[in-house]
Amino acid sequence: MIRLNDIEKRYARNYVLKKVSFEIKPGKITAIVGPNGSGKTTIIKSILGLVKPDSGNISIEGKPIKGEHSYRRMIGYMPQIASFPENLTVSEVIKMISDLREEQIDIQSNLIELLNLIPEMNKRINALSGGNKQKLSAYVALIFNPKIIILDEPTAGLDPVTSTNFKQRILEERDNGKTVVLTSHIMTEIEELADNIIFLIEGKIMFNGMTKTLIEQSGHKKLEKAIADLMAGNYK
Ligand code: ADP
Repeated sequence: MIRLNDIEKRYARNYVLKKVSFEIKPGKITAIVGPNGSGKTTIIKSILGLVKPDSGNISIEGKPIKGEHSYRRMIGYMPQIASFPENLTVSEVIKMISDLREEQIDIQSNLIELLNLIPEMNKRINALSGGNKQKLSAYVALIFNPKIIILDEPTAGLDPVTSTNFKQRILEERDNGKTVVLTSHIMTEIEELADNIIFLIEGKIMFNGMTKTLIEQSGHKKLEKAIADLMAGNYK
């Protein structure tokens, strides 16, 4: 369980998060949705400990994260744009990360096949396409069998086959009781994956609940239309 209580963050006079509070439950996929600049990445970075909120608190599994580092071991994170040492090969990067983490790679997992990474293993990072870098990033996020999985635009740049395989894996992780948090601008993808939605506008939560409730309440059949209504209603 991830819990945010009254989180506030501002950069100079820009109030980016305005008393944001929510819970993210295990065994569910929760999507954080909102227009560009609404504060999604700031929330994710706050959970990861990369951004320090000005006030409020965050706890994971009931423990406040302030001043803590060890909780990060529980988290697998796939950033929007991955960055790895350019002169290493894919297999060297995987080895380096597993040495750093001092944890065993989950070899039961067929993730490397699923992501179609085998042909890339001996290529250097600077020779990889953007999509193949994303595959490596997806691999690294899941390979240590983390309890909490945070995915920032996970399928952007992935080819259709890999994207389908990866989405299937995310659903399986959820069914195994993992806590999954993701952001995406692809509403059909959110509809496919997310049990719950936290919808933000300008650093405030406008909806926090089940995806199907949001769609039902809107009277539409598709999430895209429901979200459009929500945005229209709040943009005066
Ligand atoms: P989103 O992920 O929803 O697109 P962000 O969380 O990245 O939104 O950004 C929210 C707001 O915070 C934006 O107005 C952005 O310009 C501002 N912001 C984010 N990071 C910084 C930073 N390091 N310095 C100054 N402003 C920032």
